[in-house]
Amino acid sequence: MNTPVAPGGTIGIIGGGQLGRMAALAAARLGYRVHVFTPEADSPTEQVAAQATVAAYDDMAALEAFARAVDVVTFEFENIPAASVRLLTSLVPVRPSWKVLEVAQDRISEKRFFNGIGIATAPWAEINSAAELKAAVDTIGRPAVLKTTRLGYDGKGQVKITAQTDLDQAWASMDGAPAVLEGFIDFAGEISVIVARGLDGFCATFDPAWNIHTNHILDTTTIPAPISAPLAERATQVALKAAQALDLVGLLAVEMFVTKAGEVLVNEMAPRPHNSGHWTMDACVTDQFEQFIRAVCGLPLGNPERHSDAVMTNLIGDDVDQWLDVLKEPGAKLHLYGKAQARPGRKMGHVTRIQPRQY
Ligand code: AMP
Repeated sequence: MNTPVAPGGTIGIIGGGQLGRMAALAAARLGYRVHVFTPEADSPTEQVAAQATVAAYDDMAALEAFARAVDVVTFEFENIPAASVRLLTSLVPVRPSWKVLEVAQDRISEKRFFNGIGIATAPWAEINSAAELKAAVDTIGRPAVLKTTRLGYDGKGQVKITAQTDLDQAWASMDGAPAVLEGFIDFAGEISVIVARGLDGFCATFDPAWNIHTNHILDTTTIPAPISAPLAERATQVALKAAQALDLVGLLAVEMFVTKAGEVLVNEMAPRPHNSGHWTMDACVTDQFEQFIRAVCGLPLGNPERHSDAVMTNLIGDDVDQWLDVLKEPGAKLHLYGKAQARPGRKMGHVTRIQPRQY
């Protein structure tokens, strides 16, 4: 069904966090209503949405009623059960498709996908026992990182394997969950490229972003990334190739390591707006959230051109107390997510500091 969802229509968003909130605000600017589906009451998205269903991701009756009330379904949170997506898909266009979510939900299927289309990742091995871990550490070497294959984010479900690490203990910390061992990359930096792909197959990419993580959580994103033009082009081609191979309709963020030898290795991907694209709200003609809405509604994509240089800083936990100072700062744009409690590690908002584009 390739007819666009016209303004006035209702977009169903699965997941109620800040990504859904900012997507809903972009949708509202284009004249759409948003209906959010999330287990959380008074979520950041619900606060700005026309309608909310508060129910579990496996509540089939609630999902069915939701699907019947919207014109298209998309996700700001991709880890929802296959059976739920199957039900939604039988009732309403779902973008991106289950195939994309399925690849992105699992670190091993993600790495197989990238390697299968000729894109390099860190060396990796599938781990389902302490014996497999020992054998893989013998091959990959130390340091390495052991990660659960599913549901890990912001460093959750990860343990670094150093010269001192006891491998039985490391495996025990996975609680029996399937895992992947990755070689530890002594990277020169981390970058990400966000690509949008429309129903018609047209793609638009944002400039590569330079990301600094602290305690495994994104701290700052700097644009332009301090990388050479050929490297930026290579990273962009990686994201485009992935979006095309997945037959994506929507947005894809691809996170990559830049090695000291200037190689690009994919770390992971997310088929939705991404924290490392928040800078686009203040520095681009069309931002990632509007591009996301355009893609899932089957509209033409907008111009992703950057008009400003930018540094985006996440406000994590108590950092949000700086809001008044940020508001007084010229060139700073404050974005808060409406979360009541500033727990440590919780993303409460972000600030983007912009300057006229230099190059
Ligand atoms: P992830 O949850 O896979 O995105 O990992 C979070 C962060 O941990 C990354 O952005 C990196 O800073 C670091 N990290 C993860 N995997 C590796 C790796 N194989 N080598 C080096 N650093 C890593």
